[in-house]
Amino acid sequence: QATFTPEQGWSGQLQPYGPLQLHPSAQVLNYGQSVFEGMKAQRTPAGNIVLFRPDENAARMMAGAERLSMPPPPPEVFLEAVVSTVRANSHYVPPQGKGSLYIRPLLLGTGPILGLGPAPSYTLVVYAAAVGAYFKGGQLTPINLIVEERFHRAAPRGMGGTKAAGNYSPGLVTQLAAKQSGYADVLYLDAKTDSLVEEVSSCNIFVVKGNTIKTPPLQGTILPGVTRKSVIQLATQLGYDVQETPVSITEAMAADEIFTTGTAVVVSAVGSLTYQGEKRQFGEEGQPTKVALQIYESLTALQQLKTEDPFGWVVPVV
Ligand code: PMP
Repeated sequence: QATFTPEQGWSGQLQPYGPLQLHPSAQVLNYGQSVFEGMKAQRTPAGNIVLFRPDENAARMMAGAERLSMPPPPPEVFLEAVVSTVRANSHYVPPQGKGSLYIRPLLLGTGPILGLGPAPSYTLVVYAAAVGAYFKGGQLTPINLIVEERFHRAAPRGMGGTKAAGNYSPGLVTQLAAKQSGYADVLYLDAKTDSLVEEVSSCNIFVVKGNTIKTPPLQGTILPGVTRKSVIQLATQLGYDVQETPVSITEAMAADEIFTTGTAVVVSAVGSLTYQGEKRQFGEEGQPTKVALQIYESLTALQQLKTEDPFGWVVPVV
């Protein structure tokens, strides 16, 4: 846990997991100055513990902090907090291939303020928990998605491009409704035309047709996923024609396959997509589709250092 005040800058130390003490007038509780990150520490076959592109998470938190008028923690402060948390919890990192240690950095406006304004002081908290697969059924089980037709996730010129806590609570009502109807999650459409696919609640989307893989461009409404960026590079290297370009829901419904990417979900094949009452099935029931599986395997091999890392993305911490 580290604190920031304008007079003293950043300072912090390791602490046992426990409640945060906050004033009722803490900015974050009243006006929502809060951005977070999601990262994973994994074991390599040699037993070392590695992070995946932590500098990207540091940069994204800085950008989000600026958008919400918070002091961006310098990358070295962010990385030290993450690395020391992982080292202190290294015994919780599961054996190679059996899961990972999920790491959650939070930047909060914790100082008290009554009138609307930025907090006078801030807290960077990093906590961690051992995790397995994100969706029910395990990492390789395809997920069923339904297009959300009532709400949008993000507005143009809003803060959809940041990992602000406030981006997530508006989606709970739709996510829960989807789950009750047997879907793993919802797919959001854009707020301008209601016809372009944007992203899923916690992951980015890729649409495959032949040798072409399309993913929506970063225009401020979708999160610039670290996995998204990495998969664009990996898939290009595997010989696919990867395009960051608007993708219509009609195109998605007619695709050969669809998959989603994220730190938590890794690469998840989409088993079916439901839109306006029509359900489109991809691949064979219960089986991951071809391209999704290929990209899942090459990404996880690289992330766990089961193959060489030609990009310098994998950072050893223990
Ligand atoms: N979109 C949203 C809305 C997310 O919450 C996440 C998870 N951080 C992603 C996409 C995927 O981003 P990343 O690959 O960096 O985990």
